[in-house]
Amino acid sequence: MRANQTAIVVGAGMVGLCCAYALHLRGIKVTVVDRDIEGDKTSYGNAGALAISECVPHSLPGQIWSIPKWLLDPMGPLSLRPAHMPSFMPWILSYLGHSRKRQVTHIADALHAINERVSADYDPMLHAIGYADKVHDKGCIRVYDSYKSFKKNALEWRIRKQHGQDYELLGENDLRRMAPAIGKVKQFGVFQPQWRIMDDPKGLVGCLRHWLLAQGVTMVNANVDALVCAQSSVVGVTTSLGVINADMTIVAAGAWSKALAKQVGEPCLLESERGYNTTLPNPNISLKHELLFAEEMFVVSPLAIGLRVGGASEFAGLKAAPNYQRSDNLLRLAKRYLPDLNTEGGIQWVGHRPSTPDSLPVLGPSVKWQGLCYAFGHSHLGMTQAASSGQMLAEVLMQPELNTDLSAYSIGRFS
Ligand SMILES: Cc1cc2nc3c(=O)[nH]c(=O)nc-3n(C[C@H](O)[C@H](O)[C@H](O)COP(=O)(O)OP(=O)(O)OC[C@H]3O[C@@H](n4cnc5c(N)ncnc54)[C@H](O)[C@@H]3O)c2cc1C
Repeated sequence: MRANQTAIVVGAGMVGLCCAYALHLRGIKVTVVDRDIEGDKTSYGNAGALAISECVPHSLPGQIWSIPKWLLDPMGPLSLRPAHMPSFMPWILSYLGHSRKRQVTHIADALHAINERVSADYDPMLHAIGYADKVHDKGCIRVYDSYKSFKKNALEWRIRKQHGQDYELLGENDLRRMAPAIGKVKQFGVFQPQWRIMDDPKGLVGCLRHWLLAQGVTMVNANVDALVCAQSSVVGVTTSLGVINADMTIVAAGAWSKALAKQVGEPCLLESERGYNTTLPNPNISLKHELLFAEEMFVVSPLAIGLRVGGASEFAGLKAAPNYQRSDNLLRLAKRYLPDLNTEGGIQWVGHRPSTPDSLPVLGPSVKWQGLCYAFGHSHLGMTQAASSGQMLAEVLMQPELNTDLSAYSIGRFS
């Protein structure tokens, strides 16, 4: 692409807006199209962490034996709606296939290749839009029952260490010193200083959107019904308000991206992995760090707008009604391990993580069409990887001399 050409970004979540930002900086005339530009999206209600050290794939060797236990436990981290099972099968089979050792190494390297540049890509953007003082180097404590339970997860800690992510082991006294709110049941922790926590993810997305608007980026409130193809190129989109043409179209529609890719003959495995949380305005405890309860798989984020207790992975498709019982369960767990927590007055939320079976995003040019790129599928790391995804995509499109390598994230891996 050359400066002064035009681009459409489908999706005004954090990933789409970061793509718009990176292209706008390079002189592209960008139009962002979203069916609900300001409305609720996955990028609003998440845990608000830049989880820079997280290069561990979700599918790991031996995990298959834990899945039945998780599914049967009503307080467990995983649930699956039976009606969704048939369409879910290809995804879960592929997910399990990615737990082989060689795959795990490849995926960890590819996640690290994005994560290692997160701060370098985020910081200039945060300064430009005026949000830099609202992202804090708080770090995260991963909380375990005991040293023994920490040792059971040796592989994931080895993967982090191999990728240069240092951490500090916390015995019981150190754990209580750093997080006095944690009750006696938990006796071991690991501090990961790399995590950065923002005041409010919705605030960041809104701030970036307003900045882009003020800079002349066009925002269109419309549904994208289809991509428009002419010979071997995508030349724009059909929307509920009519056709919009551009030199480049970027599909960054989060968990809804699969349908648009499929329409142009590029199928991929993408599931909505729902997560639930509750934001507590008066939690009665204060935390200096994010807490991640490793065995129960939920997080407690100290945001400026309250304490956000969330997690869970629910596979139910994009249309099923939310089951807020899962938010209640997470709150009950939090109360068990943070005994002084005040759970009154919480605001519940559900969001659709766009998840691929190999834990990697779909990022880069279409294999089949000129004028088309993808930027979706960031699963649990969409806030973390958004700025770098935008920059890496823009580098591939406009600065080939940088040799930015997106091959590991290509949509071609699904065919
Ligand atoms: C409970 C929970 C906690 C999380 N915590 C973290 C965290 O701490 N750190 C982290 O890095 N990540 C976290 N994540 C993941 C992160 O929130 C997502 O990966 C990220 O928000 C995805 O952003 P997105 O821009 O791809 O999608 P979205 O934010 O979902 O945006 C997609 C947009 O596309 C629009 N759209 C879709 N289809 C169309 C169409 N056809 N036409 C027009 N518009 C369309 C939608 O309206 C939407 O606005 C969490 C997720 C959940 C659920």
